[in-house]
Parts: sequence; C-alpha cells; structure tokens
Amino acid sequence: MTFQFRLYPTPEQEKQLGITLDLCRKLYNSAKEQRETDYKQEGKTITYAMQQNELPALKQQFPAYKEVHSQVLQDCLRRLDDAYQRFFRGEAGYPHYKSADRYVSFTYPQPGAVLRTFAKAGSIYLPKIGVVKMNAHRPFDQAGVTQINVKRYADHWMVNISVKAPDVEAGAAVESTVGIDVGLSSFAALSDETKVDNPRYLRKAEKRLKREQRRLSRKQRGSRNRQKARRKVAKTHQKVARQRKDFLHKQSCRIVRDHDLIAVEQLKVRNMVRNRRLAKSISDAGWRQFITYLSYKAKRQGKRLVQVPAHGTSQTCVCGADVPKTLAIRIHNCKVCGLIQDRDVVSAKIILQRALKIAA
Ligand SMILES: [Zn+2]
Repeated sequence: MTFQFRLYPTPEQEKQLGITLDLCRKLYNSAKEQRETDYKQEGKTITYAMQQNELPALKQQFPAYKEVHSQVLQDCLRRLDDAYQRFFRGEAGYPHYKSADRYVSFTYPQPGAVLRTFAKAGSIYLPKIGVVKMNAHRPFDQAGVTQINVKRYADHWMVNISVKAPDVEAGAAVESTVGIDVGLSSFAALSDETKVDNPRYLRKAEKRLKREQRRLSRKQRGSRNRQKARRKVAKTHQKVARQRKDFLHKQSCRIVRDHDLIAVEQLKVRNMVRNRRLAKSISDAGWRQFITYLSYKAKRQGKRLVQVPAHGTSQTCVCGADVPKTLAIRIHNCKVCGLIQDRDVVSAKIILQRALKIAA
C-alpha cells in the first residue's frame, strides 16, 4: 500500500533535493557506461555487487556524493541492475541513458534503518535532506514503512511512502472492503485513498500505436506500403494489448488478495465513450476487462465483487450532501461536512458505501 503526500521543502531543502536527484541520475548513467565499456573492452560482466563496492571510492573521488544517503545511491545501482535483468529476461528493451526529465525520483529502500523519527506530525525526516514539511492528510503505520520514494513533478515534490499491509492471522475473519472508481487522471482511485497510475510504458506504447494507425490511413488502398503498414499496426496492437493485460492482471490480483469485498461501478461503457474527454481514460485502461478479471479472481478466492449503479457517484458526498461538479473540478469540497479530497477518491468511497448497503 502506498501513500502519496505532497512535500513542502524550504528553498534550501529544495535545492538539496534537486542536487540529490541530479547526482543519482549521473551515477545511474556512469554505472551504465561502466557496464558497457568493461563489457566491450574486456568481455567482463559488471554486477550490482561490484558497482556497490565501488561507492566508497566514488565518494572519495567526488565528495559531492557524500551528501547523498548511501541507501539512495545503492538504489540507483539497483535500478540499473533491474533494468539490465529485465532486458536479459526479454521483458524490456535495452536500458537507456536517463535525461533529467526521465529520472525524476530517488528512493530510500530500507527506511527502517534510517527512519529514526518522523518529526512532529506533518513532516518527514529524509536523511541528508532534513525534516521536510509534508501534507500527511491521513495516518499510516509508521512502523510498517518499507520504502520511501521522493518524486519531482513540474512544480512540486511528492513523497510515496510504501507501508506493508498489516499481517492477517490465518483463519481470522478480517473483513477488508474497498471501493474502486475509474480515475480520470490515473487508472483508478481506491476508497482507501490510494491511487493506481497508468504505467508510463503503456501510455507510450499507446501513443505509438495511434501514430502508426494514422500513418496507415494515409497509405493508398491495395498498395504494398499499405500492407506493410497494416502489419506494423497489428504487431504494435498486439504488444499494447499484452502489456495492458499484464498490468490489469497485476492490479486485479493485488486488490483481490488484499480485500474481501470489492465494490465497482456498473459501467455503461458505450455512454461514456461518447463523452470524448472520458473516452481516452476508459477505453485505454480497459476498465471492462479489469472488472472481468476482478470478477473471476474474486470468485476463485471466495471473495465478493459488488457492482453498484453508477448514477451520481461523482455528485454527492459521503455524508449524503449534493456536491455538484463538472469534469474540470478535481477536488471534492463539501460545504456540509467539510470533506476536501480528490474527487475520484470520494467517488470510490461512495461506491463502497452503496456496495455495503447492497451486501447487507
Ligand atoms: Zn459531506
């Protein structure tokens, strides 16, 4: 389970965050370069362990690296190693050098060891950065934190805090429930106030597919070129479908594993696709396919999937008040009970409410 909170660093801290990210990226790129040259020149395969052992020497040579936490540096090398492993297994292309706009986050992979304190509520201690103000709008189990990831966006910083799910005793009838709403900005929003993003590789592949389809439509009917273009489109299409399926399987597995009752909207996909702004997120995400996966996985594991009428879930509040909003309004703001939250998360909560009523 991952919690995402906004960070409010001081100008000094923000500078340090930027420096850290930049050093991480440079380390990643030079570690990649080292792997390549050593392989080309000596046929030597460099491993993660070998590169990690060189970190102390790196710090001696480039003192700036002393200002980056060692776990964070190790994580850069780990990312590179993962990228190579995925390539060797045939799951991904050859690792690229990372430009500044592609390397946007750094990670403390074992915060237990460094997470001495969360300073007073509303801030987080990031080793080598300091105590940074954080908009922690919801409590989480600090003892269960497994990873802290700091991410740069266009004009702000966020922190993703991964927390291990509480242990469930075997046979204990713990009723865990969750509501899921189709996200507009993300793939889905959950009633536990987390969000699931559309993976970047998928968005990219889909963009490529669209480009190829446009190209195909310009080719002359019956021509050789058209045949060629059609084959290309079919191939990309297949690849995108495979990647999307894989993503949907992973997400549905996780949700069914973690919850006993899962609530979703009955989707009238045809109606929604007519609305052009919604069309992209709905069809792209393969929402219908997702519900199908949820449904059979839930059945197999003896869990419940409840589909509720979709009507008005984005126009009311959990307190029952009407909170009308257009698509452009991203934040739910209820004047009656004071709830201020991401609109999709509120919808997910209402979907869960309705499902619990039906289930009862
Ligand atoms: Zn309300």
